[in-house]
Amino acid sequence: MKDKTKVIAIDGAAATGKSTLAKILATDLGYVYMDTGLMFRALTYEALQRNIIHEGGMDHEALLHFLSDSRFDWKNDQLALNEQLYGDEIRTLKVSEEVSNVAAQEVIRKFTLENQRRLAADKNIVMDGRDIGSVVFPDANHKFFLQATPEVRAERRWQELQQKGEQVTLNSVLENVRLRDKKDSERKHAPLKQAADAILIDTTQKSITDVLDLMKSYID
Ligand code: C5P
Repeated sequence: MKDKTKVIAIDGAAATGKSTLAKILATDLGYVYMDTGLMFRALTYEALQRNIIHEGGMDHEALLHFLSDSRFDWKNDQLALNEQLYGDEIRTLKVSEEVSNVAAQEVIRKFTLENQRRLAADKNIVMDGRDIGSVVFPDANHKFFLQATPEVRAERRWQELQQKGEQVTLNSVLENVRLRDKKDSERKHAPLKQAADAILIDTTQKSITDVLDLMKSYID
C-alpha cells in the first residue's frame, strides 16, 4: 500500500500510553507522528459546536454535509482540520463521552481512512489509534497492540485531566474508559482489535522507558 516509506502502527484501548510512546518513538527514529485519535476528537468537537450532535441524537444529513466540505492536512507536522489546529478543547470528558459514537459511523470511518492514507503516503510515520494495523495499514512494517487494566488507564487519564485543571472524578473517567472500550470494540466498522501479526504489550506494570526499549528491540 506504501512503497518506499515506513509505517509503525500502535493500536490499543484508551489511555494505554499509545500517544506518549508513539511521540517519543517518532522523534527518536526521525519519523512523523500521526495521532489518529485527534481526527475523531476534532470531528466530534466540531459536530458538537455545530449542533450536529445534540441531546439524544445525531443529524446525519448535516454530518455528511460537513464532511463533504472538510479535510485534514499537515500544518508544521501537526494535523489540522480545515486549516485549524486543536489543543485541550478536544481532550475534555465531554468530547470523550461523544467520540466513540461519532467514530462508529461508517461515513466518519471512510473519511478518516482516506485522510490517514493520503497524509501518510510519502512519509515515514508512527501512527497510533485503534485500527491502524488491522484496517488502515495492514501491511505496516511494525505493529504493536497495547493493553493495561481499566483502573490503571483511568488513573493515568484522570491525572492528565487534573493537571489541565478539569474537575472530574476518577470514577467518571473510569466509567468513560470502560464505555469507550466497549463501544470501540463492538462497533461494526473497523473495531478496536489486535491484528493477528501485532505484538501485544501489557503496559500495566511497565514504565514508558521499559515499553519503549521493548518496542525498539523489535524494530531493530
Ligand atoms: O486515542 P484517543 O483516545 O484520543 O481516541 C479517541 C477516540 O477516537 C477513541 O475512543 C475511538 O472511538 C476513536 N478512534 C478510532 N480509531 C482510531 C483512533 C481513535 O475509532 N484509529
